[in-house]
Amino acid sequence: MPNYRTLRDPNAEYTMRDLSSETMNLNADRGPRDVEITDVQTTMVDGNYPWILVRVYTDAGLVGTGESYWGGGDDAIIERMAPFLVGENPLDIDRLYEHLVQKMSGEGSVSGKVISAISGIEIALHDVAGKILDVPAYQLVGGKYRDEVRIYCDLHTEDEANPIACADEGERVVSELGYDAIKFDLDVPSGHEKDRANRHLRGPEIDHKVEIVREVTERVGDRADVAFDCHWSFSAGSAKRLARELEPYDVWWLEDPVPPENHDVQREVTQSTTTPITVGENVYRTHGQRRLLEEQAVDIIAPDLPRVGGMRETRKVADLADLYYVPVAMHNVSSPIGTMASAQVAAAIPNSLAVEYHSYQLGWWEDLVEEDGLIEDGYMEIPERPGLGLTLDLDAVAEYMVEGEELFDEA
Ligand SMILES: [Mg+2]
Repeated sequence: MPNYRTLRDPNAEYTMRDLSSETMNLNADRGPRDVEITDVQTTMVDGNYPWILVRVYTDAGLVGTGESYWGGGDDAIIERMAPFLVGENPLDIDRLYEHLVQKMSGEGSVSGKVISAISGIEIALHDVAGKILDVPAYQLVGGKYRDEVRIYCDLHTEDEANPIACADEGERVVSELGYDAIKFDLDVPSGHEKDRANRHLRGPEIDHKVEIVREVTERVGDRADVAFDCHWSFSAGSAKRLARELEPYDVWWLEDPVPPENHDVQREVTQSTTTPITVGENVYRTHGQRRLLEEQAVDIIAPDLPRVGGMRETRKVADLADLYYVPVAMHNVSSPIGTMASAQVAAAIPNSLAVEYHSYQLGWWEDLVEEDGLIEDGYMEIPERPGLGLTLDLDAVAEYMVEGEELFDEA
């Protein structure tokens, strides 16, 4: 790892806009706020995604835990950012977020992996700030609209292209696990494809997708809302045809039918149909979501909190969405840490529709924390404990860590 001394020296003549406490003259006696970050550590857990957990240590003996969006590379990025955090006050969450975005410009800090890594730190800062101030994290982002947050369950079957198998799994999860909101993938092979690269949907492919939607929605009826995800797969014309064909089935939403980059196409697809269109999981920061909302290219916005920029950034996206009367359905594939961070923000915004849960088949998801019963009958209760209200179980982290990873230090 290179030293990077030049970029972190606030006295260097060529230093760009610098938001460190030293250059901002924030080092006066802070009284009870006199807390400093001493270390930042990461480890990767081998869940149904490679979850990246982040811990921020302080000289108050309190530690905050966060999570950044899954995938490789965050550990190196967070190691690179640690010198910008050590010695800083963990209560200055917003300034530290901006400080990191500014300092990490060389790595491309307005989107992608750097923002995901910053999100993990930002969540950990909310956790430790809540502990220092003795308030739950939802209080730090505005206080409560709801005690329990609705959770929707992302479903999978071995036989994902079989409409009856999908309906059977939907029935099982609704009647046995108690969810009143579920989601299936709709970009599954139908057997009628000629060429999946060209994004075009042939008639029989659309018929197959309609059959999946019909079987699932008719089976669960009014007991659950049902969404369908397309993972950016289709052409504009095919997306419009599919969305129109699904109109009679009153789906909760159709997610990412076209790729995310071209807002004109997003708007055209969304405005062509009464089927609600959801977009947002791979768009970064409020800046990335802004045009989707301003141009009314989306019916429901789906930021992923450990990816989009963290808890305050998600709050900002939700506030902007609310100006356009757009609800928020947070995308989420995280461990309990990222999921609870999402739920804490969902509790604090008016326009939360639901938060995703993507690990119902894993078996040990909530073993990563000491608390039990995080999701009951499709709802997540927001704890009144300080910070995120969760205690990482380090024995469980050690058991499920990716091979070669290092376990966190104790607080
Ligand atoms: Mg999706």
